[in-house]
Order: sequence, then structure tokens, then C-alpha cells
Amino acid sequence: MTTLARYACDPAHSRGRRHSEPSAPTRNHFQRDRDRIVHSTAFRRLVYKTQVFLNHEGDLFRTRLTHSLEVAQLGRSMARSLGLHEDLVEAIALAHDLGHTPFGHAGQDALNHCLRDHGGFEHNLQSLRVVDRLELRYPEFDGLNLCFETREGILKHCSRTNAEHLCQQEPGGVAQRFLDGTQPSLEAQLCNLADSIAYNAHDIDDGVRSGLLTLEQVAEAPLFSTYLRKVLQDHPGLRQQQRRWLYEATRRMLSDQVYDVMSATSAAIEQAQVTHADQARQAGPLVRFSDDMHRQSVQLKRFLFQHLYRHPQVSDMTDAARQVVDDLFQAYRADPAQMRSEFTRRSDTLRAISDYIAGMTDRFAQREHERLTGQRLW
Ligand code: MG
Repeated sequence: MTTLARYACDPAHSRGRRHSEPSAPTRNHFQRDRDRIVHSTAFRRLVYKTQVFLNHEGDLFRTRLTHSLEVAQLGRSMARSLGLHEDLVEAIALAHDLGHTPFGHAGQDALNHCLRDHGGFEHNLQSLRVVDRLELRYPEFDGLNLCFETREGILKHCSRTNAEHLCQQEPGGVAQRFLDGTQPSLEAQLCNLADSIAYNAHDIDDGVRSGLLTLEQVAEAPLFSTYLRKVLQDHPGLRQQQRRWLYEATRRMLSDQVYDVMSATSAAIEQAQVTHADQARQAGPLVRFSDDMHRQSVQLKRFLFQHLYRHPQVSDMTDAARQVVDDLFQAYRADPAQMRSEFTRRSDTLRAISDYIAGMTDRFAQREHERLTGQRLW
């Protein structure tokens, strides 16, 4: 690891854990958080959770797990060159999607709808609930008892109402910045950007693999089309080897974006004259693309929305997923005893149902749906 920059989060000066624990002899606080996340049950579930394509649609599509690993890879390599703390970036990246429901965003929307009169459902908030409360592994406390800095990064977005609620339980804690309008650490900002760099790239790959995006379409995609053209100029023979052509274009796009973030971010940090992690939190968003890359990446995102995420075949899946989540919610509400006992025992029944469903993998949710309704939607 290269030397930490003065504006990086330093585990030796962490704001600490909610339950105090002795330090580990050989690992810093952020390494330890990363290790706790890797060993958690919620982390193992990510392998059977949908990113865009349902788990059963093919073995090579990204899942939440492989997506999280790609975010960690991109985040770490940028962190190293910026002098930010790699272990913290890795911990946040591996945990950032722990709160996702089965079936991707469709599952989340359905759960949010079911809970519309009871506080709603946000997957970022749920990721925090997973690491703060729902993982039951330690004798002394619920959750993984992670450091402030890791939890701060996990809570990427939060509504004002939820932030106020969290601040009542934890005054001045990880939700305070949503009330103050300040930023999270640079490591957390970096993970957010690594997240979108990762999915823009892998969704093109998965889109083409699934056949939902044609090569003609991606050849017109903002930003990506430039790389496809350049690759073909350098390697005309790749027109006959489409997969290699796509991979090489993706590799170049990722690499350009990573270097773009590093140079734009270094310049922003220098301009803001930030010399301390807390100062960085006050300075407005500093981890960024150049203006040009930002514009092109927004256009690419828009392209993916239009041609992939709203593709009729994806929408069909989305409708079925909503149905499954909604049916499960109603079934457990009618008979909470159908849930696993630790959820049945809780007094906050609706939130317990939501936690139970949110924790499910795609295939477990499908099996439960079949068991409780006798219907098979796929
Ligand atoms: Mg993500």
C-alpha cells in the first residue's frame, strides 16, 4: 500500500465502533470491517441476487456478488493511486449492496410500495440495517459492529425523514450529513463512482450476452462506441471475434474512466486545499469525472435505461418480480408464523416481514412464493 494522503481516512483515528472492542493485533479497523463483511451471511447471499438479469437466466451474468467484487477492484485501484485508504474502500464496496432485495430494483420498488404507509423501504438504509442489526453472529451485540467510516460509506443515500429517524437513535451519527448537506469521506465518494463505472461497463457486456442489446445498438452507444471504433482501427480482425472486440473496448473504457477520475479528483482535492479527512467532508463532492467524461457517462447511463433496463423482456421479469414480493408480503402479513422463527418473534411485524423478504435470494423467494401461493411465475 502506498502512503496515505493527509485527506485519507486513517483507521488509527477512526470515529470508532458503536460497541467498543479491543483492537485486533495485526489488522487495522478497516481491514477487520472488510473481513467481517466477507464472513457475513448477507454477503454470501449476494451470489444468488439479481443485478439486472435473474439468477436463473444464465450462469455468466453479473450477480450482486460479482458486481460488488468489480466495484471493489475499481475502487481499490483508484484509492491506491489517490492515497486513499484501500481497505476502507474495499469494505464499503463489498457491503454497499448487502441491503438489496431479491430481483434487483423491481423487488425494492415492490417492497417500498408494500411499506408505503409504514416508513417505506430503501436499499441503502437496509444495507446499514444488515450490518448494524440483522447479522446475528456476536454474543455481545447485534450486527457486525463496524466502524463509523465503513457505515458512513454504506449509507449512500437516505431520505430526510429516515435521516431524522436515524439521528434520533444515533445523534451526530452516520445520517447527520443528510441533514447538514455535507459529504461522506473521499473513500465513500470513490465507491459511489466506482459503482457506476462498474455497472455501466458490465451491463453492456451482460446486455450483449443476453441478446437484448445488439452489436449495432452498442456501436451507437454514447462513449462506448468511441472505444469500439478505436479497437477496430488497431485490430481490424476483431470484427470476426465479437466477444474479444467487446472486451477490449470495455477494458479501454474502464481504464480511461479510472484515469479520468484520478486526474479530475486530484485536481479538485488540490484546488480545495484539503489536508484532512474531516475537511474533505465539508468541501463538497471532490471525487469526480472531468466534465466531459461526466457528460458522456450520463449519456451512456441514459442509453442503458432506454435500451436495456426498460427492454420489454426485462420489464416482463420486473412485473413478475413485483408480483412475487407483493404476494410474499401479503402472505406473511396474513400469517407471520410462515416466516423463520427469529422474524416471527419480533414485535415490529411489518418491518420484520420486510427484513425477511429483503434478505431472500431470488431462488428462495421463488420457492417461498410457490409454497405459499401454489403459483409458479417463471
Ligand atoms: Mg452497486
